Amino acid sequence: MGGTKPLSRYTTYRIGGPAEVYEIREAAQAEALFTGGEIVLGGGSNVLAADAGTDRRVLINRLSGIVINGNRVYAGSGTFLPKLAAVCADAGFSGLEWAGGIPGTVGGAVCINAGAFGGAIADVLLYADVLEDGKQRRYGAADCRFSYRRSRFTDQNTYITGACFLLKHGDPDAIAALGRAYQARRRLTQPVGRSAGSVFKAADRPAGWYIDRAGLKGLSVGGAVISDKHANFILNTGGAAAGDVLALMRRIEETVFQKFHVMLEREIRLIGEF
Ligand SMILES: Cc1cc2nc3c(=O)[nH]c(=O)nc-3n(C[C@H](O)[C@H](O)[C@H](O)COP(=O)(O)OP(=O)(O)OC[C@H]3O[C@@H](n4cnc5c(N)ncnc54)[C@H](O)[C@@H]3O)c2cc1C
Repeated sequence: MGGTKPLSRYTTYRIGGPAEVYEIREAAQAEALFTGGEIVLGGGSNVLAADAGTDRRVLINRLSGIVINGNRVYAGSGTFLPKLAAVCADAGFSGLEWAGGIPGTVGGAVCINAGAFGGAIADVLLYADVLEDGKQRRYGAADCRFSYRRSRFTDQNTYITGACFLLKHGDPDAIAALGRAYQARRRLTQPVGRSAGSVFKAADRPAGWYIDRAGLKGLSVGGAVISDKHANFILNTGGAAAGDVLALMRRIEETVFQKFHVMLEREIRLIGEF
């Protein structure tokens, strides 16, 4: 069952202090443990976890399984997005090609309406199953209140248990080729290393454009550095503290505001006690 563990084990930044952690592999476990006050994490690929950790329980969601029925694909919320994209491509379903390079889970992706290359969860989701107020509920896409990197789930404490996608039949070779082209584009434009992807949301221009023009590429605090390759990525080069990443985020916010009068909005979520 649960135990005190460093959150650094569960985040792609490899940063984060102690918390009481439970890995959830069965729906019944989620139902028993989720009361609404816990932090639910999937791949931990869109969060910065505090060095001090958190007093809240952390549920690491590993509910897995993919079921195909006609052109509907149902995935457990702990399914890794690249795995879902690969299964869909193999089965000749188009609609999730953009998701292949996103190192998170279906639950995290639905929560923040993940997207790339012009596609997003909101375009393909049919419904999401959740635990909320001690009950199971099903939200149709129209009730998920999707907007750019937001949904009704970003602001309320819900445990997404599964999601059903409505996809289109296509040519498996063409689908695979498009997926590969997107991955190649990522390799060209994004740095390898420990990160949580884009730190800030796009404003009227990509956030990286502002950060780059503000002359902040390469700036570091402790073990954290603003990537030279993609200015909207902050990397943990080894041994970075959450405080180092947060210091860089604040520096970016202040400098971009001073230079451009644009207040960048954070995409990654801070969890724990900062
Ligand atoms: C190299 C790299 C590239 C990336 N590229 C992209 C990209 O192109 N597009 C993009 O949108 N994102 C990108 N990301 C960010 C991230 O991978 C995605 O947003 C991903 O969908 C987050 O999923 P996760 O499971 O890791 O969520 P987590 O980081 O674990 O959680 C994110 C949020 O979702 C909530 N959450 C997670 N699971 C559940 C659940 N089951 N029920 C309820 N709430 C839940 C958490 O509480 C938290 O608020 C990238 C990240 C990296 C490291």
